[in-house]
Amino acid sequence: MTQELTYLDHNATTPLKPEVREIMLQKLSSPGNASAIHKVGRTARRDIEEARVQIMRLVNAGSRAVVIFTSGATEANNLVLKGCGCERILVSAIEHPSVLQARSDSEIIPVLLNGVIDLAALDKMLEGNDRSTLISVMLVNNETGIIQPIDKVMEIAKKRGALVHTDAVQAAGRLPLDLQKMGVDYLTLSAHKIGGPQGAGCLILSNCVSVLPQIFGGNQEKNMRAGTESVAAIAGFGKAAELAIRDMAAFQKLSVLRDKVETELKRIAPALHIFGRDMLRVANTTMFTLAGASSETQLIALDLAGICVSNGSACASGTVKASHVLKAMDVAEAEAGSALRVSLGWNSTEKDVDYFIQKWSEMYDRVKSRLSAA
Ligand code: PMP
Repeated sequence: MTQELTYLDHNATTPLKPEVREIMLQKLSSPGNASAIHKVGRTARRDIEEARVQIMRLVNAGSRAVVIFTSGATEANNLVLKGCGCERILVSAIEHPSVLQARSDSEIIPVLLNGVIDLAALDKMLEGNDRSTLISVMLVNNETGIIQPIDKVMEIAKKRGALVHTDAVQAAGRLPLDLQKMGVDYLTLSAHKIGGPQGAGCLILSNCVSVLPQIFGGNQEKNMRAGTESVAAIAGFGKAAELAIRDMAAFQKLSVLRDKVETELKRIAPALHIFGRDMLRVANTTMFTLAGASSETQLIALDLAGICVSNGSACASGTVKASHVLKAMDVAEAEAGSALRVSLGWNSTEKDVDYFIQKWSEMYDRVKSRLSAA
């Protein structure tokens, strides 16, 4: 008998929305190369251009912005950091590894203990700056769900003449986005965080900037990213973007379930610490710790009960090592090593949350005596 899964790891990947799956199956059954001149090629081209418009709508990009499709946000982040042509690159300490590791010469902007980027430090780093500079700060952190003050980053960038990139992967579909109001130069999205497929993402360029290609061999995507476009994945991405607008209000209501998890766990284990509870956060994410009960122990116990959660970002959690985000927030090793992230999404229910609370509570009962002795 297969065990039913309780999937609470939406920040790692969201399950495909049924409408997206339907579109993708249609496109997979009539493949065409969007660069071909013939009818099938032209249909594929039309599908890609429709997806571009759907994605631009999600972020209110304005008609002069350019969407460059990539294999995902990792590639989009690499593309902008390597291809922006700037002499200096400043990235926050809590960025996704695809930003942190894209260049070895990036300078790190510290974050405060509360998980928010240190704006004073950023301003200081740019004092007297006369080199072309890109600042990369994510809109929402994937581990804590904390929203970063991109408007303040923009103020500093304008004053100091720097360009700004934001990785909006965990913000799309979770917060209303307006690229034109935000004023950032580059924005990254990923399909599989908004109910779309894995393997599709994009970099959006505002009307004033460009990017040097990092992959060569074709003139797709306005010569900025060579390679045959994956029509089904891109069409799925476009549909997911359209649905993300429709489902935004429902997403924001997930805070009720998220708050229930936090209230109940805190009642069961008063020593539990919740990261960023008083900060501006997206509705679906909670990250907490109970020093003494290792993340690994908790993940295994919950996995045995059919519950999928995470100890941080998916890319780091394969190795169950302490989160670089918590480290940047100066969280002690013991606490960081016991962190757990629960992230809800479009198909999460109260039943899922109640089951999680019940199983976490049973696990807590088993380890409680060890914790108080520690
Ligand atoms: N940035 C952030 C904030 C992410 O959460 C992720 C996915 N964990 C990525 C980038 C990478 O996205 P992709 O899986 O599309 O490469």
